[in-house]
Amino acid sequence: MNVSAFLDDLRMRFPNEPEYLQAVEEVVSSIADIYDRYPAFSNVNLLERLCIPDRIIAFRVSWVNDKGRVCNNMGYRVQHNNAIGPYKGGIRFHSSVNLSILKFLAFEQTFKNSLTTLAMGGAKGGSDFSPRGKSDMEIMRFCQAFVNELWRQIGPDTDVPAGDIGVGAREVGYMFGWYKKMTREFTGTFTGKGLDFGGSLIRPEATGYGNVYFLLNMLATRGIELAGKKVAISGSGNVALYTAEKLISLGAKVVSFSDSDGSIVCPDGFTEEEFREIFDLKTLYRGRIREFAEAHPERATYYNRERPWRHVACDIAMPSATQNELDGDDARALLAAGCFAVSEGANMPSTPEAIREFRKARILYAPGKAANAGGVSVSGLEMAQNSQKLKWTAEEVDSRLKEIMADIHSQCVQHGTDEDGYIDYVRGANTAAFLKVARAMMAQGVV
Ligand code: NDP
Repeated sequence: MNVSAFLDDLRMRFPNEPEYLQAVEEVVSSIADIYDRYPAFSNVNLLERLCIPDRIIAFRVSWVNDKGRVCNNMGYRVQHNNAIGPYKGGIRFHSSVNLSILKFLAFEQTFKNSLTTLAMGGAKGGSDFSPRGKSDMEIMRFCQAFVNELWRQIGPDTDVPAGDIGVGAREVGYMFGWYKKMTREFTGTFTGKGLDFGGSLIRPEATGYGNVYFLLNMLATRGIELAGKKVAISGSGNVALYTAEKLISLGAKVVSFSDSDGSIVCPDGFTEEEFREIFDLKTLYRGRIREFAEAHPERATYYNRERPWRHVACDIAMPSATQNELDGDDARALLAAGCFAVSEGANMPSTPEAIREFRKARILYAPGKAANAGGVSVSGLEMAQNSQKLKWTAEEVDSRLKEIMADIHSQCVQHGTDEDGYIDYVRGANTAAFLKVARAMMAQGVV
């Protein structure tokens, strides 16, 4: 089956999974030439085996809330592909979670992990449980009930979960604790653990810092300095906050943040002190981003239920909240305001129309699977430290992270440079990632 027939077939089989189809179409359309050129791939139906997950585990999670009421959520783990290493990918807790979203994330993760140069396959999991408004004890009971179902399916050489939206160090700690109790083993089965029990230094910072390192590599191809540039960020969670921290430390001006209620914009750029206040608001007090604008109306404007893109003049955009949060109109507004680089912290934040606009304008555009791979890379380094029972210094982890992001950038340049010199990071990332996984799958036979 050639690529176009394959996509038609996939649309017929999974008509209710738009995010999954969107992610597959983006990758498959950029590797179509290579795939169709080598009949050896289609002889073993490689594309179908690469796009359809190896296995999906679905289960009910029953837990008791603080009022003594029994609540039921759905839990999932999508084990997508383990051709190059154990399944690896985060867990998302958010009311929007469904199989289409987890299948898209697990598919993307397989390609991202291939780019990292480390031995990790792709997976993703999660639940439609929303941590918002839940007490600490409710979160703990939910995490325990979730792992009570999942623990048999994961392990240090089988499948290693981590955090994602709604899952940070607290949730990973609770899940790890229950996993340890069920298995009676202390292994590196989760990453993003606390520093006292096997976590790696720089893991919380890694996705945001890594995205900035990738951006620096991109800017260098055009001889552009980061210092003084205005950067619009969406989100105010783990990825957004550490992206901002690194940008501010390098002299860039961060002009926006958002959360699921709305956005704040500060045209001059938040000062270091203001950023610390936002950091504490979101991490220590689990507050809403609007509270910053309410406390400092002279410094920031709040846009209720809106994303930042049409309200900022920026040089660079780093979407770091969620999928499909930047559409064609947003992209046109950013380009009209002079934005010349987009580096994605979130997974698939730009819609296909937005991506077409960025590529047509020939700006620097890095898809999430390349730009946000720093998080899973340091998770891979956490796995390495756990298996050696060693702990590396922050400097060592940070310097390895920089090397990995530079390596991912080089792979994009190698496979994505057009004849006129324009670097198509989408094609570069997809091609490099595909070739590695495809070679491994071909070598291992039909399994
Ligand atoms: P967090 O839960 O820490 O933060 C998510 C942020 O995005 C919050 O500000 C949240 O707002 C906002 N958000 C979530 N859903 C929506 C929505 N539907 N609409 C608008 N805003 C929303 O998650 P992370 O920072 O870890 O993850 C952010 C993105 O980065 C995700 O796409 C994730 O897959 C990706 N990613 C994360 C990695 C990691 O290491 N954590 C690694 C690679 C990618 P609110 O506070 O209101 O919930």
